[in-house]
Formats: sequence, structure tokens, C-alpha cells
Amino acid sequence: MRDPLSFDLFTLSSGLRVFHQPRDLPWFAANMIVHAGSVDDPVGKEGLSHLLEHQVNSGTHGMPWTNFGEFQEWADARGFDFDHGSTGSHATKFGGRAWSRDAEAYFGFLEAYLRRPILDGMLDHDRRIIRAERIDRDPPLRRKRFEEAVRLALFGNRRQATATGLPCDDVLFSLTQEDVRLAHERHYACPNMTLVVVGGIDTTVLRTILEKTFVPDRPFRPRTPSRLPFDIDPPAQREIISKKDDGSPTTSVRVTHIWAMRPTGAESVLLRNCLARTLNDRVRELERLAYHVSVDVSRNCDSETFYVNTDVAPEKVDRARKAIEEVFSDVAAVLRHLPRQRKSIALAIARTDMNVAHVVTEASESIEGEGWLIPLHELAAQFIAVGDDSVIRLLKRLTPSRALVTIYET
Ligand SMILES: [Zn+2]
Repeated sequence: MRDPLSFDLFTLSSGLRVFHQPRDLPWFAANMIVHAGSVDDPVGKEGLSHLLEHQVNSGTHGMPWTNFGEFQEWADARGFDFDHGSTGSHATKFGGRAWSRDAEAYFGFLEAYLRRPILDGMLDHDRRIIRAERIDRDPPLRRKRFEEAVRLALFGNRRQATATGLPCDDVLFSLTQEDVRLAHERHYACPNMTLVVVGGIDTTVLRTILEKTFVPDRPFRPRTPSRLPFDIDPPAQREIISKKDDGSPTTSVRVTHIWAMRPTGAESVLLRNCLARTLNDRVRELERLAYHVSVDVSRNCDSETFYVNTDVAPEKVDRARKAIEEVFSDVAAVLRHLPRQRKSIALAIARTDMNVAHVVTEASESIEGEGWLIPLHELAAQFIAVGDDSVIRLLKRLTPSRALVTIYET
């Protein structure tokens, strides 16, 4: 049986990396990952990558469309299903689908769209759209200030602390056409892009089409992500408290312990599961100190953040916090869950079933976040191979004294 995440990988002479998974279908899905996102925006020009993602939509040299509606009609007429892009913290992605027989036309369009945009108009219109997106997604003010304080405490003067695709108006409206053009020149080059293709196209045919389409253009040096050190210094501000400010009584408090560090491997996922079990057994079930306990790991190419979230009654905050922190020094209790977790994660991975959309999303997220793609059978093997010692080592690095503790009243 085919591994859902097994791909042929080749690099074109232009430097474009291609991950390809052939399937017996009359169509294909393609996702172009440009390795540039909000963390790449210069300080004071937050939102630039996002604005550029909107601006490439305004037309290309040698192509007929001039605005969003006309472009959509042009694409519809060709049977192209194109998503116009989305900007994340580390990448901007452009997904789409087309019939296999139209592969040449589709990749020709994609190349023009990404490499030869006009970038000379609609700036104010696009800035206003981004402003509307921000207003749409903005959390309430207290939550927003709290999240900003957490990022600042965790990342200090590193770029991750303030990077955002949805900047405030002052910053957004100071971005110029020249900024957009420079960002395009800096990032939208073949060696800084990865294409994921899944579907009905033969690898040799695909390679020939792409080699002809994405031709080498200029020398380019891709950025290297500046990763966090292994043990980031404990945050200078150790505790952030956000009290309810609307006069109503506090019914629940979320206590969160957070650690930021360099990305790790399978051990943090294993430790996450073992800790979740131990904390639930002890803090929620046995001592009845919390309504809810969850452990999360969020990882990308430059950092990993490990969270323990606990929802408790206001009068139990101190006791719950003490109980959570005690679990971190009880290595034996946490390790007790390791053999079973190792097996059950490996089993869950081995039994993963994916459709084309799922494969494209998973592959793209892995390439965006970790820079590479691991077939599922290899990933399962990695989990099996994680030794007790490396999980213990990670647990010992995550001491309560290095954590940022946040207390958010609701
Ligand atoms: Zn947008």
C-alpha cells in the first residue's frame, strides 16, 4: 500500500523544489509554498508579506486580467480552481486544481502570477481589505493586550514577538508600493519556493513542463531561519495576570504554563501525551482541582512552544498551580505512560487515511513548518525509536522555574 505522504522529490535547474505524488486521476492539486511570511517582514513594516500576497492578484505582465472579478472569470473559463493565497508566519501559500490535460497552461499561469506580477496599483484597496480582515479577526481588547504581552515575554526582542500579518493602521498605511516590490524581489524567487503536486500527472511529464516554465532567472540566496536556542532564557517577566474588567464575577481562571525553545522531534509529542495523562489523572480526577487540563505543542521551523492549559475555579488557582508544578518533578509518574503512548501514536500514524486535499495540506504544513516531509511509516518508526532518556531530558528542561505562567480570568 502506498504511504499517504510518500513523494518523489526533485529540484529544477531554477532551484524550485518539487514534491510530487502521482495518482490515478484526471486532475491534480498543486500548492506553491513561498518561504516568506510575517516573520520575514522588516521591523516597522509588519504585514508586508500579507500585502504582497494580495498585490500579486492585481495582474501580471503579459496576462489579460486587471481586477479580482475579471481574473476570476478568466480562471473559471479555463477550469482553474485557484485560492488566491494565504499568508502565515513563515510562508505564503497558493493552492489550486486543474485538469491534467491543462497542466502546462496552469503552471504557465502560476509562474506569471508569482514571478511577474505588475505591482503598480490597487495598493490602497488591498490595504483596506487587510484592515477589514484585521477588524474581523481582532479579539476583544483585553485578550489582544494579553496575547501581545505573552509573545513579548516569551520571545523578547526576537522577531517572533511582534511579527503579524494584520498590523495596526499606522503601520499598514505606511507600507508603500516600493516596499511591496522590494519584498517580491527578496522572496519570490524559485530557490525560495516549494511546489507540492498531487494527482493525475506523470513525474517525467511534470518535470518537463516545470523545467520549461520555471526557468532560472537570477542569483538568489535563500534565508536561513534564525532558530531559538535550545534553552531560551527564562522570561524576565515570569507571570502575566489578566483580570476581568467588566465588573461581572470571575467564574473560571485559565492557568497556562508556557515554554519556548528550539524545535524538537517526536519526544515533545510523546511528552505532551504523557503529561496530559498524568495531569488529568492527578490534578483533575484525583485532586479535583481543575475542570480541564490540556497540553499542546506548536512547532514551526524556528521555534517550538509547549503549553499546559488548566481551567480552574478562582479559589483553587494556587493549589492547582502547585499540583501542576509538582507533576513536572515526578519523572516516574510521567514515564509510566510512555510505552503505551509510543505504541498508540505510532499505530494512529500507521492507520492514517488521506484524500488528495488532506495530503496536500499535510505535506505543505510539514514543509512550511519543518522544512521537509517525512513519509508516515518513517514518522511512526521515529516515535517507536524515541528512548526514555530523551523524553526525561526534555521533561527536565521544562521546569516550572523556566516557564512563563499566565493567569487569565473569565
Ligand atoms: Zn488577506
